[in-house]
Amino acid sequence: MFIIILGAPGSGKGTVSKLLSEMVDVKHISTGDMFRQEISKDNRTGRLVNRYISKGLLVPDEIVNNIIVEIINNNEKGLILDGYPRTINQAKFLEKVLHEKHRQIDKVFNLDINDQEIIYRTEKRRICSNTECGEIYNLEFKKPLEFNTCDKCGEALFHRDDDKKRIIQNRLELYHKRSKEIVSYYENKGLLTNIKLNLNENITKKELKKYLK
Ligand code: ADP
Ligand code: ZN
Repeated sequence: MFIIILGAPGSGKGTVSKLLSEMVDVKHISTGDMFRQEISKDNRTGRLVNRYISKGLLVPDEIVNNIIVEIINNNEKGLILDGYPRTINQAKFLEKVLHEKHRQIDKVFNLDINDQEIIYRTEKRRICSNTECGEIYNLEFKKPLEFNTCDKCGEALFHRDDDKKRIIQNRLELYHKRSKEIVSYYENKGLLTNIKLNLNENITKKELKKYLK
């Protein structure tokens, strides 16, 4: 099963993807997380993508597409795609790759949230620094039990540099410019479902289950 998650930066794509990944038992891949891992390894790809990410700009399609093909080839069962595709060019490329494998996109979820809420959430968002874990917290409504420490694995939490206010505003502006075309692209194909995240994960899960049928 191939499911795409669309939504503004900080809209909860990671959270929904994790839930879905457990529910349908396919891997969750976040292009943003993946890039951050490369950046922390300070390798060639990392340095290349960081030139764009640190400014809140999109990484060029060609770079992202090349990475995605490999991931799809390694995950025949399917994927929850979080953060990809982000442009029509990427969407068409993905379609071509899946088509060649006689596969298709099964569902597209679009997360509904307003900017004010996003700025508030990203300022309070903290992420587990253990890349194997990557649990997402929020200092307001999903606090870790112990200060700055992951409940699941005990590693330290961090605040993404690009979640800080000045950069998040850039990312949001870019998102609004770009998102309309990709949302309507999937809407026209009849694949899109708009969902609103509930702070209670069980409620969100029930919602998702309903739409998966
Ligand atoms: P968010 O969705 O919260 O903006 P992500 O963690 O998904 O953040 O991505 C962080 C950054 O990585 C983006 O701002 C962008 O620079 C880059 N990025 C991630 N996915 C893509 C993609 N599919 N195409 C281009 N750039 C991407
Ligand atoms: Zn953790």
